[in-house]
Amino acid sequence: MFGRALIVAPSIIVAVALAATGLAVGSFVGLLTIRLPAGLPWISGRSKCGGCGRSLTPGELVPVLSWVFAHGRCRTCSAPAPLRYPLLETGCATIGVWAGVLHAPSLAPATAAFGWWLVLIAVIDAEHFWLPRALTLPLIGAGLAIHLAGAPPSLLDSVAGAAIGWAVLALLAALYRVLRGRQGLGGGDPPMLAAVGAWVGWQGLAPAVLLACGAGLALATVQGRLRVGTKLPLGTLLALGGWLAWLYGPAGDQAALTGAFRASAPRAIAENVRGLRTLPGPLVNRIPDLLLWPAARALREAWPREQLHRAGPWGEDGRAD
Ligand SMILES: [Zn+2]
Repeated sequence: MFGRALIVAPSIIVAVALAATGLAVGSFVGLLTIRLPAGLPWISGRSKCGGCGRSLTPGELVPVLSWVFAHGRCRTCSAPAPLRYPLLETGCATIGVWAGVLHAPSLAPATAAFGWWLVLIAVIDAEHFWLPRALTLPLIGAGLAIHLAGAPPSLLDSVAGAAIGWAVLALLAALYRVLRGRQGLGGGDPPMLAAVGAWVGWQGLAPAVLLACGAGLALATVQGRLRVGTKLPLGTLLALGGWLAWLYGPAGDQAALTGAFRASAPRAIAENVRGLRTLPGPLVNRIPDLLLWPAARALREAWPREQLHRAGPWGEDGRAD
């Protein structure tokens, strides 16, 4: 029992720390969802009340609590304080706990950071139909970096995920332009799916997109506006799909079950850098896999292993039977 407590403890400590960090990050995310679309600098001066312009005191900037104790209003002018702050603060805290509970302690902070970044992208896209490359491109870089450091599935899978994600949406957008003569996808969509692919690997792309489609259908149904030509924030939906695929998809399973990534980052980076020099070989080898998946994999699994090995005149050991 004591042994079990020792194993569980680090996860709980990490989850609590990430929840607390999430509260503060949520405040900042709330600020950015207003400042970025307005073209204001990321960081500027003290936060002010939107009603009377009074600078807020540190006591009024405590996540969630300030809002609750002030009954969601400014102390001086009683202008309503934006609900987005307490919502995003609790949301980001939840993401921290979620990451800490599901992923090994060494990977959980990166997972939480991924979630927080996705929230920022999702809110801006939902409110403004805008996917700034200043947000999606760094997320691609972060996804590649986390796999360079040894996170599952592998660096090669991550590179393939980013490339396929970008290519699929760029191709779709081009097709739509040719067929319909107008823009059907935003220019920010390909880098967004590339960012998701860089995190979940190419294996996680299909689950992520399916989840996004499911969420989109649900949203459209709830809002009762399932008509041709309905505009949905694709980036918001992909953010949700990408988050769930990272946690519960092929890569997430590996991260949760094997605890891979634990304290092996330096070795993984060295191995990956060595591997990069020989990357073209394995990449070319995998092309049929990538194109024919899942048909190729299903076939290979269905085929009796003994027959594969004994198909020729030689047995498994290379000698004639
Ligand atoms: Zn005020």
